[in-house]
Amino acid sequence: MKVSYYNIYTKNKNNVICYNTKCDSFCVLSNADAELLKNNLQKLSQESPKAYNDLIKNKFIVEDETDEYQELCQEYDASINSPYTYHLTLLPSLDCNLRCWYCFEKHIQGSHLTAENSQAILEYIKQLFSRNPELNYLNVELFGGEPLLYFKEELYPLLSQIKQYVTARQKRVSFFFVTNAVCITPDTLPLFNDLNATFQISIDGYKDRHDQIKFIPETKEGTYDNMVRTIYMLTEQMENTYINLRINYDDETLPYMKDLIKDLIDVNRRKIGIHLERVWQTGTFMNYDNEELKSIINLWMLNGFKVSYMNMARRSYSCKASVRNQCVISYDGAVYKCSGRDFTTEHQDGVLSPDGNIHWNQPKLDKRLSIVTYDNDLCRKCKFLPLCWGPCCQKQLETTPNDFRRFCQKQNMELNIADYMRYRFNNAYISNSFNQ
Ligand code: SF4
Ligand code: SF4
Repeated sequence: MKVSYYNIYTKNKNNVICYNTKCDSFCVLSNADAELLKNNLQKLSQESPKAYNDLIKNKFIVEDETDEYQELCQEYDASINSPYTYHLTLLPSLDCNLRCWYCFEKHIQGSHLTAENSQAILEYIKQLFSRNPELNYLNVELFGGEPLLYFKEELYPLLSQIKQYVTARQKRVSFFFVTNAVCITPDTLPLFNDLNATFQISIDGYKDRHDQIKFIPETKEGTYDNMVRTIYMLTEQMENTYINLRINYDDETLPYMKDLIKDLIDVNRRKIGIHLERVWQTGTFMNYDNEELKSIINLWMLNGFKVSYMNMARRSYSCKASVRNQCVISYDGAVYKCSGRDFTTEHQDGVLSPDGNIHWNQPKLDKRLSIVTYDNDLCRKCKFLPLCWGPCCQKQLETTPNDFRRFCQKQNMELNIADYMRYRFNNAYISNSFNQ
């Protein structure tokens, strides 16, 4: 037997936390057992047989012949080529009702789905299912611009038809809205309920700060109070919803996070998760041992909230733009793979025709799909590979391997690895105990 390559050890007060990134599991060991796990498996099996067997069962120790890296390569390959799921992102409008200063998108005023393009999207989905009998799950994400600008009159009728079509075939469909929440009003709730909608809602810290960034341009009215009310409304009145509350932070917002926690203290913890994301334009001032961030993460967790920090949940690929069964369709029929760049002709990868067929720019698509995101000198040996899978395909298309270090998640983390591991451990166990 041998020790898994993907074990990461972190000293805790009187013991050692061991996290296996490949299996996404933790164990807590005495200092003595941790030393034996690292250096002398035979002695561990004799002195702590129960711990030894548990470590085998949970893959912290693996068979000598196991090639863990090869297993990961196979996992990646299977998931990016999976015929079972299709990831469809729709951009119902590239207009927005707010104008956050950091938004990368070029807004197209008044842009919206026409009846013809809605029909073409529905037709595309019908063809997907009839051409791919193995397809059993359609994962629809609504993005923009602000995707809810014409929700009742244009988007909901399309999504409702998609839902009816997919469920009539006894297949599964889900709808995830990335929104600023301004257009979620009580009268739209039954429609979201019908779609079993889940959401990502962005917030820019405490009230004053948020209202300076996210306000209605015409009236200058801030959107914070309305957004907090909407979060309560969704979590109280929708049985099956989930909100990923994305908090865009910078050094000025962190000290005021307590106010936000107070405002959300009564939200049902099972229906909300907190994601902390630095406003990327403020990254040059980053502190790589950010005590303030650490204490804020702890404060959310101590109040029973699940927290995610960095894009490092266990998954099987870097970004869904690498997945074969994936595309982004805009309101005007333009088709993209990546949703993290301007939706302009320069970044376009294809076009949806009225008969529901996508005509891809095949050489461009092939080039993207040929990138194996972790297959480079930086990532191959990285213990975080199962959580990260390397710089995304878009970044790799735009740069050369010499630049990859600048995108490395380990380099861009504001916690040291030991603090990061303790946070993951606490997140897995402390907030879970609140939610039982
Ligand atoms: S920029 Fe990268 S991570 Fe973002 S959507 Fe595009 S491919 Fe994915
Ligand atoms: S980008 Fe960095 S963290 Fe991600 S797999 Fe590569 S080396 Fe590891």
